Order: sequence, then C-alpha cells, then structure tokens
Amino acid sequence: MDSFTYVAQAARVIFGAGALRFLAREIDLLGAKRALVLSTPEQADAAQRVATMLGERAAGIFPHAVMHVPIETARAARAEAQRLGADCAVAIGGGSTTGLGKAIALDSGVPIVAIPTTYAGSEMTPIYGLTEGGVKRTGRDPKVLPRTVIYDPELTLTLPLLLTVTSAINAIAHASEGLYAADGNPIITLMAEEGIRASAAALPRLLKDQTDVAARGDALYGAWLCGSVLGAVSMGLHHKLCHTLGGTFDLPHAEVHTVILPHALAYNASHASAAMRRIARALGAERAAPGVFDLAQRHGAAITLRDIGMPADGLDRAADLAVQNQYPNPRPLERGAIRALLQDAFDGKRPVA
Ligand code: NAD
Repeated sequence: MDSFTYVAQAARVIFGAGALRFLAREIDLLGAKRALVLSTPEQADAAQRVATMLGERAAGIFPHAVMHVPIETARAARAEAQRLGADCAVAIGGGSTTGLGKAIALDSGVPIVAIPTTYAGSEMTPIYGLTEGGVKRTGRDPKVLPRTVIYDPELTLTLPLLLTVTSAINAIAHASEGLYAADGNPIITLMAEEGIRASAAALPRLLKDQTDVAARGDALYGAWLCGSVLGAVSMGLHHKLCHTLGGTFDLPHAEVHTVILPHALAYNASHASAAMRRIARALGAERAAPGVFDLAQRHGAAITLRDIGMPADGLDRAADLAVQNQYPNPRPLERGAIRALLQDAFDGKRPVA
C-alpha cells in the first residue's frame, strides 16, 4: 500500500425515493429559519413547490440560475438573499443551480442544502465558478460545500433522456480522472470504480424506461460517488479541455464531457493502465476509451464536437489554450497530440486505445 492523504468532505446525505419530504427537518437541523429556494427558470415550478412545502421556513424563491454563474446573476441572488434575510439557501436543480447557491455561500457563509436533479456532482465539491466578462474563474472554498444533500430519484424522472445520458457520462468523467489523479488514494479509487459501474449500468434501463425509479436511484447513487471523487482529488486533461471548450466556445457542459471523455482516455491510456483496467471493468467493456465511446453512442448521445456547436476553425485555438498551463496528467501535455485528439473528437472517430 502506497502512502496517501485522504480528506473526507463532510456533508450529510439523505438518499432515497421521496427523500424530499425530509427537507424541513434538515433545515431545522441546520438551525436555519428562512431558506431562499434557488432554481433555473425551467425548474421554477419545482422551486415553488419546495417553497410551498416549507411554508414559513421559506423566505422566497429565486428562479434565475443559468449555466456558469454569471457574476450579475450571483450579485442579484446575493442581494435577494440579503433583502429577504435568508439564513440558508436551498438549491434544487443541476450544477447551474448548485453553483448559484455556492456564489451566495461564498459571499455570506450561509449553509446550502442541495437537492440535485442531474448527475453533474457539484453538490459534493467545494469548487465554485463565477463568470465575469466572458471568463469563468473557479476556486475552492470549504464554505461553498453544501452542508446537506438530499438525493431523491423521483426528482430526476423528468430529466430528458439525452441529458440523462450525457449527465451520467459527465459523472463517469469525474470518476475516470479520479482513478489516475496524482493525489488519488484507495478510498477514492473504490468510490470511483463503483460510481462508474452504477452510472453505466443504469443507462440501458433508463433508455427502456426513463421513469424507472430504481434505475434513477442507481444513476443518482453513481452521481453521488463520482461527485465525491471530483470534490476530493485533482482532475487532469479531460476536465481542463472541457473547461476550455465550454468557456471559450460556449458548448453545453454535459455534452462536451460526453464527446471528449473517450478521446481524453485514449490520450492517457498508455500512461495509466491500472486506471484504464478499472474503468473498463466498471463499464463491462474490454477497453476504457472505446467502452465510453460505445456507451455514449448506444444511448443516442452526440459523439462529435461538430454536432454540439464547435466551430472547425476553433480547434487550433483550443489546442493552444489546453497547453497554456501545466497541471498533473498521466501523459505529458503535447500540443500536437492534443490537436489530433480534438480533431478525432470533432469527427467522432471511435478510439482504439
Ligand atoms: P444544468 O444545471 O445547467 O441543467 C441543465 C438544464 O436541465 C436546466 O435547464 C435545468 O433546469 C434542467 N434540469 C435539471 N434537472 C432537471 C430535471 N430533473 N428535470 C427537468 N429538467 C432538469 O446542467 P448540469 O449539467 O447539471 O450543470 C452544469 C453546470 O454545473 C456547469 O456550469 C458546470 O460548470 C457546473 N458544474 C460545477 C461543478 C462543481 O463542482 N463546481 C461540478 C459539475 C458541474
């Protein structure tokens, strides 16, 4: 056994179909009295239902979360929290909504209760992002880690099938990079492999019936584990590429993860063979990179950067940006090989590694 450091991220997790009913109790346990309920405009109904359920414990709703937390939205939400005297933020939704809760917590220190309805995993991380003048800045602060997380598979029944598939592969991406992280450890390895297994195994069942609550539960359990990996260890080339592509070319978050992951794994395959074996085993595939590619394709996800809005003339710039800063990655960052990776992803070429 090698030496390692493991830091547990303390969060209280309430898991199960119908778990939303425990929300009021959880707010009381935090000692909070006035919760501001956050959502995207698309999930405003869910936010309203939660506020109604909370009665006098709800200070109000703020249904204006959008992708990548623009600073203007963060400022408006912070002002609303202050105006209403909120002492807690309840974020019901995906990573965009959790991200808005984090922006409020970063500013005021109020606790967050996260109720994730996608598999992005933000609720398990102390990582926040804020976008100002078109540039997304990310950072880590223990203040933004949600104190309580309610995972209720029933709330994910409405997640559209395509987002279900790409969001689950977004989760698999966290766990995959966790398996070869420079600061990895055996606990995270266990979580990562099990997270990939649970996420991948849920997809064929959800393809058949997206309202299968047991399969939704497995996918959400996988997302929890994969999100925990993201929160605990550093990510490599795959996450840096997705961050660059998402931020610079405004590509949709879960989709870009889905397209890039097989190619990032193929890039790293020869330098992280133990991780690749675990990923393949968890997918029930022969090899990791083609295994992820097939998983995406079989379930109807877009597999080319072209199809998700990447301009062909942006590939050179993306390759330049990807090698601008050095960071730990199993295989050294080589501009030419990364440019080739991006071309493969643009064309949707099935990796062989
Ligand atoms: P999202 O939160 O942007 O949601 C996408 C859309 O799906 C929204 O319109 C949302 O309202 C809708 N939606 C969500 N759940 C639904 C449901 N159950 N039923 C119907 N509609 C639903 O997407 P995401 O992929 O969860 O999050 C992406 C964002 O999260 C990005 O900005 C990304 O950078 C961030 N993120 C941050 C971290 C972190 O650790 N800080 C981790 C992962 C993602």
